[in-house]
Order: sequence, then C-alpha cells, then structure tokens
Amino acid sequence: MEIFRTRLRCKKPFRIATGVSDQCEGILVKLTTDGGAAGWGEASPDPYLTGETMDGVVSLLVHDLFPVVRGLSPWQLEEIHRRMAAACVANPSARCAIDLACHDLIARQAGVSLVSFLGGSSGRVLTNYSIGLCTAEEAAKEARRIIESGYRAVKLKVGNDPEEDYARVKAVRSSIGPEVPLRIDANEGWTYSQALRALTRIEPFGVELIEQPIARWDYEGMARLRERVTPPIAADEGVHSPRDAARAIAAGAVDIINIKLMKSGGLYPARSIVAQARAHGVALMVGGMVGESRLAVSAATALAAAYRFEFADLDADLLLAEDAVAEGGVTLDGSERVLPDLPGLGVQKLDESRLTSEAQPLPR
Ligand SMILES: [Mg+2]
Repeated sequence: MEIFRTRLRCKKPFRIATGVSDQCEGILVKLTTDGGAAGWGEASPDPYLTGETMDGVVSLLVHDLFPVVRGLSPWQLEEIHRRMAAACVANPSARCAIDLACHDLIARQAGVSLVSFLGGSSGRVLTNYSIGLCTAEEAAKEARRIIESGYRAVKLKVGNDPEEDYARVKAVRSSIGPEVPLRIDANEGWTYSQALRALTRIEPFGVELIEQPIARWDYEGMARLRERVTPPIAADEGVHSPRDAARAIAAGAVDIINIKLMKSGGLYPARSIVAQARAHGVALMVGGMVGESRLAVSAATALAAAYRFEFADLDADLLLAEDAVAEGGVTLDGSERVLPDLPGLGVQKLDESRLTSEAQPLPR
C-alpha cells in the first residue's frame, strides 16, 4: 500500500448550511499485489459528515486497516470488509479507499470496466450541477449559466434561513423555467417546523426532491414530513451504512437514499444499500463530497450507472479548479457523466505533481 495526499483548489468557495470549502484535501491509496497488479482508491474525510480527519484516516490505514487485509486476495471482498469492520467502527472513507482500490484492481484483472464488473450495461449517468448558498439573485444567475452550459438538472443548497430559502427557490425556478428538474438540499439546516413550513410554501415551484431537510438522526420527523409535504424526501447525512438504510426504510423515513461511497465504506457495502432500496421501492441517488477527485467520482458514476440510479449529483470534481487524474476517468458530456470503456475505474494516469507521498506503512 502506498498513500498520497492531495490538495486541490476549488473554482470558487462552495458554501452549504454547515460550512464553506475552498481548498480540498484528499487521500489516494495505491494497492499493489505481489504479482505486480495495482489498483487505486480514494478517501475524502469530512469531520462534519463522517467524523474523520486527514491525519486520522492516514493513521488508520497504515496501522489498523492495511495490516488486517494484507495477504488477502483483493477478490475476497467479504473477508476484507469483515476484517476492516472488526478493526474499527465507523471511519467509512478510510474503508472506502481500500474497497475502491480492490475493485479497481480486480476489475482490471478481469479486463472489464467497473460498470461491467458490477453487471451494468452503460457508463453514462445524467447529473445535476449544484449551487451553494448565496443570494437569490446570485442563485438565479448561476442557475441560468448552468442550464446554458448544457446541464439538464439543478441542485440548490438551502437550509440557512427559511425566508432566504423561499426567495432562492422562487428565483431559481423562474430563471430556469418550469421544466428543468430542481432538487434542493437543506443539509439538516431546518427544524421540523421550519421544514414543514418551507416545503409547503415552495410547493408551487415544483421541486423534484428535498435532501436531508432536518437532523440526520430524526427518522421519525422525516416520516411525518413525508406524510405532509409533496416533494419526495431523500436521506443523505441520515444514511451512511447498510444498517442505517435498514432503519431508515423501516421507519418510513425515506423516498430516496443518497449513497456516497465515503459514507458507505465503499462499493461493496453500497451494493447492500442498493439491494435494500430496490427491494422496498426506495429510489436511489448518488452523491460525493466536495473535494473528491475524479478518481472517486469515476467509482460513484460506475455504481449509479450499473444500477440505474434515479438521481445523480456527480459534480464534486467539477467544482475543482485542479485535477488529480492526468489521463482517463469519468468525463462530462453536456449533463452526462461518461465513463471510458477501460478496465477498472478507467483512470490511466494520476498527475504526480499533485500527489504528496506519505511515509510507507511500517510492519507490525
Ligand atoms: Mg446532501
């Protein structure tokens, strides 16, 4: 295992209900087998979302996760995840880095793209583009620019102030016209009563879905909201793991689950969330963390493409001014993310000038 840190500049500071990002740090992991085959993974730690830090993830990878999976075949995904789960609770982005590297490696060994490896047929996914928290006028202008540059769906951040949220949704809807799908995301920013009122007031503007209107732990509140408002309710912060998905579905809290590989612990656990959602008629959305590089976004695109997710918010790398991937990986065609028909994640070359090597793991 080799570990690299990345620091990529954002195009402009991106503000949501819980904070602002302008520089994005991440971790790339390269796993090499004794036969010389290699695969790449990524961790994008977020103290607010998963409780992880950069230093914590590096330390965990070196001292706790890699030592328990070293010696296994990368094809032994069940055993790899069993051992990682026994080595530490939570820390999903650290587990994700190893999971993605294993998937990249074994799909490459199979000579197929990750989409094919997962059983999918097409590597194309329609994505929205996100607008951070800003004034109603700025949001309307940005929304128009987004549609003019070819996107066919808009996601708008709300949740800082119910009055401003109302004005923002109204302004964006009138700037993009009645047909373009408009998704909103409150990032837990509303109380239950604020959410009830806000979602009732914006009903005329036809939002396609509301992501995480209230606190992540309040499944009961989400279930009550579902009965009282029109827009379908998506859990993001509220569902990380397959177990969270089971509880949210059982509580009647979700119409949609937003899967992020950094929350689920990678593709293998994500597939369990997919299976549960499909079995219960819950729709699926894919997302990413601000600052994920094109490598992680390629993996998320493959997941959404393979299982035909209803909604995709695959713009994490598009918010960045710099790119860790030099060749290959997912691209953008209008409003669609498109994966190359190449083995594994389809990433052929990393930009080494953007990678800082970490100390090698010490033997135990
Ligand atoms: Mg969200």
